[in-house]
Amino acid sequence: MKDTAMDGHVIRTRALTKRYGDLRAVDAVDLRVRAGDVYGFLGANGSGKTTTLRMLLGLVLPTSGEAEVLGMPMPAARRSVLPRVGSLVESAAAYPHLSGSANLALLDATGADRSPRLARRARIGTALEQVGLDPADRRPVRTYSLGMRQRLGLAAALMRRPELLILDEPSNGLDPHGVQEIRQLLLQLNASGTTIFLSSHLLAEIEQMCTRVGVLRGGRLILQEQLETLLRPTGLVAIRTPDADRCQALIGAPVVSVEGDRLLVRAKDPARLNAYLVGEGVPVEEIGSYRRSLEEIVLEAEAGRDHR
Ligand code: ATP
Repeated sequence: MKDTAMDGHVIRTRALTKRYGDLRAVDAVDLRVRAGDVYGFLGANGSGKTTTLRMLLGLVLPTSGEAEVLGMPMPAARRSVLPRVGSLVESAAAYPHLSGSANLALLDATGADRSPRLARRARIGTALEQVGLDPADRRPVRTYSLGMRQRLGLAAALMRRPELLILDEPSNGLDPHGVQEIRQLLLQLNASGTTIFLSSHLLAEIEQMCTRVGVLRGGRLILQEQLETLLRPTGLVAIRTPDADRCQALIGAPVVSVEGDRLLVRAKDPARLNAYLVGEGVPVEEIGSYRRSLEEIVLEAEAGRDHR
């Protein structure tokens, strides 16, 4: 039954809250994740990301508020929802004395899968290959590195060809090459229709792969927006020059800020500005439209909240 919410939201929460004593680990969060999103859920250590993910998966009960996953209430509908969701939350549990494929076979067996043995074996092999593990590797999981365990957890999440993947820090423990491989894999899965909701504190990583971001701070969702909207041009031009003073004097009022050798100027056409400055004998080392990085945007959002 494909009964994803009528409004196209794959995950939707209303005032979702989890309290531990006096601590509001998650505080009135309204998440909106649409079908086809790669949603990056950001926040510093302890900001409430894992607790939110656990509530979405029915592993932790909310203190108040509501969560809907694939259009159905969680945790009430978990029996219908969870078979359609792949998840990796915290370090993946595995039997250390068994190989990776034996672990996946056990998982499959508990999933009440009735498909023929050969088909199951092929699916296990595909899932292992997808995450860059060798299906023929007979070594027990206890000999795996942290990165290999993380890959095995991802393979387990992929076994059911889920509509939605909920992943807590999927690049945890991976080397830069592994991070890139997993990013490619997630983008491929997304291109074939899987919605992805992943938590991270790596802003550059999120900036490279997500369509939408949410930022948690102290349990509150302080920002939720399409990445494209956040990263659109600012209407400013950035100039780098060793002669910042003269440059500022020449341009005058449109200069918005000067920081060392970098000026930000309200202007439409970097090429014209460049020609003017060079004509006046100002050495221009770098000039171009200024876009803020996700890091700057998140820091600003966090600072804005501090000032409230
Ligand atoms: P990290 O990036 O470090 O994994 P996080 O954003 O996932 O952090 P959470 O693990 O959700 O954050 O924790 C949010 C807050 O709730 C933290 O202050 C944490 O100590 C607290 N917390 C989480 N689980 C419990 C629990 N079972 N009992 C008490 N406090 C808890």
